[in-house]
Amino acid sequence: MDNSGRSFLKQSGNCQNYKIQNFIFFEAILINMKEMSNSIFNNIRVILLDRDGVINEEPGPILSPEQFVMIPKSAEALARLNARGWRCFVITNQAAFARGDLSESVFQTITEKMRAELEKSAAHIDGQYYCPHHPDWENGQRRSAAKACNCRKPGTLLLEQASAEHGFSADETVFIGDSTSDFAAATKWGTCSIGVRTGHAGRDRKVSAEPDYWQADLWEAVEFLLKNSI
Ligand SMILES: [Mg+2]
Ligand SMILES: [Zn+2]
Repeated sequence: MDNSGRSFLKQSGNCQNYKIQNFIFFEAILINMKEMSNSIFNNIRVILLDRDGVINEEPGPILSPEQFVMIPKSAEALARLNARGWRCFVITNQAAFARGDLSESVFQTITEKMRAELEKSAAHIDGQYYCPHHPDWENGQRRSAAKACNCRKPGTLLLEQASAEHGFSADETVFIGDSTSDFAAATKWGTCSIGVRTGHAGRDRKVSAEPDYWQADLWEAVEFLLKNSI
């Protein structure tokens, strides 16, 4: 808080200044309250997470369970969110489907690997939403003309779907992601975002977007959330 209000009160102790003192005093309280409400994650019930580069390492597209390797302490971080009672949903772009490199059954085995890795730390996710599309690819073929879908982030359809199916609103969530498309989707949908310096670390330059906060990794992001929530 700016201390000018307080020091003004100290300096001017006479009755003529009563009104202006009061005004500055209450204005100072208002500024303080605004700062508090901005820095605290009030009403959070749900955490939305990108998968690749946030929960697991992302050397490239994940096309097999063997390629799915957890980022250190990400499972433990999710366990803390679970313990806090916040539901966790994964929201992920999986364009490898459109490129013809990933099938539904293989994707399921990758999801099972993720769940098994999380279970080792007594962690779980409450659901997963994925976009299998790519504007330039369909069924392993290049499209003749680009066609965008609304579910591929920065589109917000998956966020809307999760919110409708599980009964939460944008202001009850925080989105944790590593790429600009995550931050853009979060902003577009109206939820707060935390960027992590793992995975793309926001350097993908797909779209022009910044998160509301930066943290080193999922563990630090969760630490930050827990410290700043009531
Ligand atoms: Mg990612
Ligand atoms: Zn899509």
